[in-house]
Amino acid sequence: MKNNDGLPPLRDVINKYDLKAKKTLGQNFLTDLNLTRKIARSVENIEQSIIYEVGPGPGALTRGLLMTGANRVIAVEMDKRCISALHDISTSYDGKLEIHEGDAMKMDEISLIGDPEGRDIHIVSNLPYNVGTALLVKWMTYTPWKPWFKSLTLMFQKEVGERIIAQPNTKAYGRLSVLCQYRADTEILFEIPRQAFVPPPKVTSCIIQITPREEAPDTPNQRILEKIVATAFNQRRKMLRASLKSLISDPIPILNAAKIDETARAEELSVTDFRRLALEYQKQQHADK
Ligand code: SAM
Repeated sequence: MKNNDGLPPLRDVINKYDLKAKKTLGQNFLTDLNLTRKIARSVENIEQSIIYEVGPGPGALTRGLLMTGANRVIAVEMDKRCISALHDISTSYDGKLEIHEGDAMKMDEISLIGDPEGRDIHIVSNLPYNVGTALLVKWMTYTPWKPWFKSLTLMFQKEVGERIIAQPNTKAYGRLSVLCQYRADTEILFEIPRQAFVPPPKVTSCIIQITPREEAPDTPNQRILEKIVATAFNQRRKMLRASLKSLISDPIPILNAAKIDETARAEELSVTDFRRLALEYQKQQHADK
């Protein structure tokens, strides 16, 4: 039996190419094309855009994207075993799918994609859980901003999704929340139950969408902000006048200049507070030079 894209059902593809899921590669495969088409429909203007997909595996999300009208999908997959299955999709879709075997962490996406010819690039991926956060940090710390991609539509464990969208004074709020929110909008679109995967993971997943904003004129340097945020959350229960000491010998003048209470803790600071704090630290760094 064939699916309505003319290709065999995902379970048959998995059997045909003997794609037994490997834990070391964070493999949990989707098999429901209705679900992957739902993910694809959340990508703006998919027909006119270029899609960059990390970890297509046997191709459930890739096929969902192509069935929804994507005309150019560039996919990076580390597992050799999946490449033949992906070639079947590429053939069936007249080469609209370009396959690259390799590690997405090391990929220089801009040279891989080449000239986008004025088209938007969207990153869409069911990320492997073992490198998912590292890839997100790679994309969110891109310089210069706005970055080369228009949006990120990503699948994460629900707990990671909640960290990305978290607000101050919650347990989930931390480095990832500030890093993602200070120059992008973040939203959880919907949840995906464990049973949607082969094999089912231990936890529920979610689809999250991240849309970069224009950089505001008073945006601190990315590296400076990252340093401040990492230092502050490293000891999240300590007051900032103490937790920032490993970075700034006397944090009090900078906290005062940023109008932040020196007894506040990292988890109480809004993204705007962190931005002001990083700007004051940046000013001090320039003054010391
Ligand atoms: N997209 C498929 C789906 O939705 O069924 C597979 C998702 S599975 C969670 C993650 C995929 O990422 C696997 O196919 C795995 O081999 C691949 N992968 C793991 N680490 C990778 C890396 N560093 N670079 C590229 N692909 C990677």
